[in-house]
Amino acid sequence: MQATDLITLPDESIEISVSCEHSDVPLVHKKHPAHTTVIQVRNTVIGGDKVVVMAGPCAVESMQQIVTTAESIKKEGATALRGGAYKPRTSPYSFQGLGVQGLKILAEGRNKTGLPIITEIIDAQLVDVVSKYADIFQIGARNMQNFELLKAVGRTHIPVLLKRGMMSTIQELLNAAEYILSEGNPNVILCERGIRTFETHTRNTLDISAVPILKQLTHLPVIVDPSHATGIRELVLPVSRAAIAAGADGIIVEVHPNPDQALSDGPQSLDLKDFADFMRGIAPIVEAVGRTL
Ligand code: PEP
Ligand code: MN
Repeated sequence: MQATDLITLPDESIEISVSCEHSDVPLVHKKHPAHTTVIQVRNTVIGGDKVVVMAGPCAVESMQQIVTTAESIKKEGATALRGGAYKPRTSPYSFQGLGVQGLKILAEGRNKTGLPIITEIIDAQLVDVVSKYADIFQIGARNMQNFELLKAVGRTHIPVLLKRGMMSTIQELLNAAEYILSEGNPNVILCERGIRTFETHTRNTLDISAVPILKQLTHLPVIVDPSHATGIRELVLPVSRAAIAAGADGIIVEVHPNPDQALSDGPQSLDLKDFADFMRGIAPIVEAVGRTL
């Protein structure tokens, strides 16, 4: 069954008609305009008035890297620490992550700062170990349709950041989220991280319209990853400003103390000073849309 909804933008000057297969996603679908899910993780609230900023390296590399990053981003106002301990790399010869050791390092970053930690889970068999450390599971673009993994995290109550697959439609993202909710876990955050197009100047193409469409179709928080969307650190701030203007509930951004030495995704990573500038750069847009940091 195809239904049609109206998007009303904040200034109410433009209305966009969007539709979705409601019957496929009964749990994910927004029932009425005020229907929103707010997710509390330790002291952080996702999907409320505040725009959340999750920041940290692509991959956990060392204790010093994580503690330095965590303390610096906390000082600048970040709301969560990200870092991959299990890395789904395109090449089998690339750094695959530190595994459990990486999770322990992230936990130390949390101890030192109080920031909740978000880390990627790449296999259903890792749910037990990753849930001992993670405050939020990340399901990466490559695993958006790993249905056994979706069901496994759905059987926990740990919030899940679900990234859109690089070649997935919005409807497929909604269906993937429905897998998690249908197992009993209502705490899902959707993430637009760019999709593959013919364009080669950027690593991916940020589908900015996915933000207001998802906000209209679902009650779930929606965040944007400008790092993987662009692959270029100079584009991270302008694209994030656009995402917040379009209604995103937050940003997940890669930050590394020394991006030139990073074991993964250095070219798209901000350094610690860049991150301070980034926070200052998004602040006026956050204010303009009537939200806070
Ligand atoms: C990441 O967050 O480092 C990552 C691998 O992201 P994505 O799944 O969006 O490529
Ligand atoms: Mn990365």
